Amino acid sequence: MRFDQRHLLGIEPLRPDEIGTLLDLADSYVTLSRRREKRSSALSGLTQINMFFENSTRTQSSFEIAGKRLGADVMNMSMQASSIKKGETLIDTALTLNAMHPDLLVVRHPHSGAVDLLAQKVNCAVINAGDGRHEHPTQALLDALTIRRAKGRLHRLNIAICGDIAHSRVARSNILLLQKMENRIRLVGPTTLVPPVLKEFGVEIYEDMREGLRDADVVMMLRLQKERMDGGFIPSEREYYHRFGLDAEKLSFARPDAIVMHPGPMNRGVEIDGTLADDINRSVIQEQVEMGVAVRMAAMDLLSRNLRARPTELSA
Ligand code: ASP
Repeated sequence: MRFDQRHLLGIEPLRPDEIGTLLDLADSYVTLSRRREKRSSALSGLTQINMFFENSTRTQSSFEIAGKRLGADVMNMSMQASSIKKGETLIDTALTLNAMHPDLLVVRHPHSGAVDLLAQKVNCAVINAGDGRHEHPTQALLDALTIRRAKGRLHRLNIAICGDIAHSRVARSNILLLQKMENRIRLVGPTTLVPPVLKEFGVEIYEDMREGLRDADVVMMLRLQKERMDGGFIPSEREYYHRFGLDAEKLSFARPDAIVMHPGPMNRGVEIDGTLADDINRSVIQEQVEMGVAVRMAAMDLLSRNLRARPTELSA
């Protein structure tokens, strides 16, 4: 069982065996989380600070629950109300927090690369909870765990990722992870949101949902990232739904046992039909949320083991 990372900044630096280690440990945390008594002491005595510079409901609460379940002291910094508003730079904020000796820093930031920068300035382990359109590693890991549990494996699957790929950190982290595990990836959406240049990454690209979904084992829908768009990427939401929104008819082109995923928050009636999203025979969207807590517990547990194993090097 090896996991050699000091931080979890993205999927890019992870080896397939490290991904396997993390998912195996997360499986055990699913079991723990389903018990009435959910407490472990893996992070006991450690301090976890959640710094969210961008709004979040599920990711922030998931990290908070994960840390508390493992016995950490968890603090949520409200960055809306913080000194960032008074003009403090990201680095000054990081140095201030660093002086309080946190062990785990969970950071979400609207700018790609901001979390990597911050990690260079602090002594603790840093987890990227989503930076701009760059990476969202715990989302890809929770998606991987959901797929592995539903399909019994995480390799040689046909996986269709559909919708707003261009602005999505979820898509980027998922493509990196699913390729490392040797799956066949198709990206489906309008060229404005799925730039043809992405073919260079060894994925297939489709502009037609029915073609792109043919024989898919997994159909992953993405939210339209309106906050990251600055122009006319789609003609209208109504037309987008007609061509690219997932409904039962389009899903019928996938394999009969294909699962439907969405990272949330969902725009019902824009990228996915609401009834399909709630259909427990096809949709694993609620499982994704459950796996999120377990994966975050596993990630923080593994990083804290590395912290404890190398105290002198890490505090240098
Ligand atoms: N919650 C995911 C993220 O933070 C997906 C989304 O917002 O669409 O990237």
